Amino acid sequence: MLLRVTKYGESILRKKGQPVSSFDAELRRLAADMVETMHANDGAGLAAQQIGSDKLLFVVDLSWNEELAKMPCELDGRRPPLHLLMPMVFVNAELTPLRGRMIEAEEGCLSFNEIRGDVTRVDHVRVEYQDLDGAKHVLIAGDWLARVLQHEYDHTQGVLFIDRMTPDTLRAIEPRLKKLRKNARKGPCAVEAAESAE
Ligand SMILES: [Zn+2]
Repeated sequence: MLLRVTKYGESILRKKGQPVSSFDAELRRLAADMVETMHANDGAGLAAQQIGSDKLLFVVDLSWNEELAKMPCELDGRRPPLHLLMPMVFVNAELTPLRGRMIEAEEGCLSFNEIRGDVTRVDHVRVEYQDLDGAKHVLIAGDWLARVLQHEYDHTQGVLFIDRMTPDTLRAIEPRLKKLRKNARKGPCAVEAAESAE
């Protein structure tokens, strides 16, 4: 089922993800719907906050990326072909930046429509997470996969890519951000909030 993608200005995007304790059919369904929604929107990743949930959960799929096979990746001490892992579901993820080398690259976000901007991030990360069965894994990733993991993990911490942009980059996109914030208040969430406040 396709889910509505929440937009910048909606408060859920600033909420920290709550740890998942039930690895049940409902969680599987949610993850499957998130993958479907990510694919339908041509996204490389999607976090629970972006579909209105505060679970500590995100999904990633980079199988469309021609460079995928070259991206450094180690899962539980092995080097599996990355395309076989995609799409990946990360439950209760904890991310640690691994190297000091910082790379600047342009990012987009499904919660920001067409707005894009440069973000500087580390090029290698370590992610401890659980899969949909609750089994624990350790993923060490580099390159674009490391970037997507950082972007999605940030979402689960209530952090958005604009928080990591330089003041100059932000200044250039601020008029469009303002528009998004305004529209969000008029959106379905604002209506619901107004109704529940009555
Ligand atoms: Zn995003």
